[in-house]
Amino acid sequence: MIVLDKVNKVYDDGFHALHDINLEFKKGEITVLIGPSGCGKSTTMKLINALNTPSSGKVLINGKNIADMNPVELRRDIGYVIQSVGLFPHMNIGKNVAIVPNLKKLDKDVTDRKVDELLDMVGLDHKVYRTRFPSELSGGQQQRVGVIRALAADQDIILMDEPFSALDPISREQLQDELIRLQLELNKTIIFVTHDMDEAIKIADTIVLMKDGKVVQQGKPESILRHP
Ligand code: ADP
Ligand code: ADP
Repeated sequence: MIVLDKVNKVYDDGFHALHDINLEFKKGEITVLIGPSGCGKSTTMKLINALNTPSSGKVLINGKNIADMNPVELRRDIGYVIQSVGLFPHMNIGKNVAIVPNLKKLDKDVTDRKVDELLDMVGLDHKVYRTRFPSELSGGQQQRVGVIRALAADQDIILMDEPFSALDPISREQLQDELIRLQLELNKTIIFVTHDMDEAIKIADTIVLMKDGKVVQQGKPESILRHP
């Protein structure tokens, strides 16, 4: 579980981006952060990823203050999926998806099987695509690879910052379904940023609505719908 305890973020230029944020992100849940541009979603994600430090308050992962955690270890435990996928151009798709398992020196056969399974699951036939390079895939296909790379890594926490926004509507719906299905199996802590309320309602266990650096509402999708 991830806890933000009275977190404030004031940037170097004096801008107060987050005001007394108290949040809990539960294991096994998809929590969706939603709100207008500039409301503090990325700032929140960067605090959890230790790319940024709170000006006051604490970020705790399983009870440990991340300020006291080793950054290398933290990177290994937290997956990050962003819109601009960030595949390594000199590595084929199979190697890209297996990057974290290989870094962790997990069993190669198990990793290979998992990579093939994940590729097939998002409609990229492993026999065709495993040995291709990122430049040989469409933008939408690369996006799928970015998502399954995060899922292949045995990380407990996955931060997803508008991961599906570049996809066509059909691929987008398919990946939303895949994510929900996979999460039922994988039981991770997923934090998902989106601008799209329909997407939020579809995939979220909990929705956190932000505005001007504050949490204005949080709860199950049904309760957010009832009190818009
Ligand atoms: P911090 O104050 O937390 O150390 P930095 O000053 O290091 O943050 O800024 C982090 C990054 O965000 C920098 O690369 C900077 O260019 C960028 N940045 C600065 N101002 C803004 C802004 N108003 N909106 C978005 N990004 C910004
Ligand atoms: P969102 O992800 O919801 O669009 P952000 O967390 O990126 O919002 O930004 C929240 C606010 O903080 C914005 O007003 C943005 O301009 C400001 N901001 C972001 N990064 C920096 C920075 N490094 N320095 C100063 N201000 C920043």
